[in-house]
Amino acid sequence: MSVKAVVLLLLACFIVSIYTRGNELNNLLFNGDYEFIDLTHPFDNNTVYWPNSQQFIFIKKTEDLGNDDSWYAANDFAAGEHGGTHIDAPYHFYKDGLHVEELPLDKLIVPLIVADVSSKVNGDPNFVLHKGDLDFMINDNMGKPCVIIFKFGWSKYFNDRKKYLGHVDNSDKLNFPGLSGEVAEWITSAYKNIVGIGVDVASIDPGSSKDFPVHKTTSRNGLYVIENVNFSRDIPDNGCTALVLPMKIKSGTGAPLRLVAICPKQRK
Ligand SMILES: [Zn+2]
Repeated sequence: MSVKAVVLLLLACFIVSIYTRGNELNNLLFNGDYEFIDLTHPFDNNTVYWPNSQQFIFIKKTEDLGNDDSWYAANDFAAGEHGGTHIDAPYHFYKDGLHVEELPLDKLIVPLIVADVSSKVNGDPNFVLHKGDLDFMINDNMGKPCVIIFKFGWSKYFNDRKKYLGHVDNSDKLNFPGLSGEVAEWITSAYKNIVGIGVDVASIDPGSSKDFPVHKTTSRNGLYVIENVNFSRDIPDNGCTALVLPMKIKSGTGAPLRLVAICPKQRK
């Protein structure tokens, strides 16, 4: 083989290796072994918002101007920060906490751990999760950054506002399950790698809470909170990656969120 041929061969190998390496992630994501699962409730005029906040208002303004070439469609909406599937930035309950647009992407695209406590909740709106209920150690993703979402089994009530919140329009009478302050203290002190905590109910504190200890503890420790997660589909309790991508509202205390999990396909 001539020197020129060897040089060309080496160059070809080099280009192929760069191409292969550059596509490793895409090859992995799109080889049919993974699926993208939406954990977001849709936003419309019935989406659950906190009783005293701006509810989601969708103003339909589609226009058909009369012939095929003149179709035009665009709508308006208005909404509070904290309703439907959404994120709470630490600033929501801590004045020195990050605003929503300041949350770094490397804390928003992270491994997802699901802690399914729905069998303990068993549909009881008065259930409060205590450390003693977690008879399994929290899967801590071996100390690497992750978000943990507690599944109370409440997503299925989302379209029944009274059942989901416990009361339709009075924030003093809300009644749904949540975490205890004790669990929040435990997670934020023992699991420093957990960057955010989610729930499939309207608030991470129980509906009856008046002083919001879980919000205060998570905010003070720099964790974000995800509320109203949509678990209409089962997902593995570990092995998925969460895409926690809120609307980038400048100085926002929270924001509507498109929450997606990239999960290994379940073999049938
Ligand atoms: Zn919120």
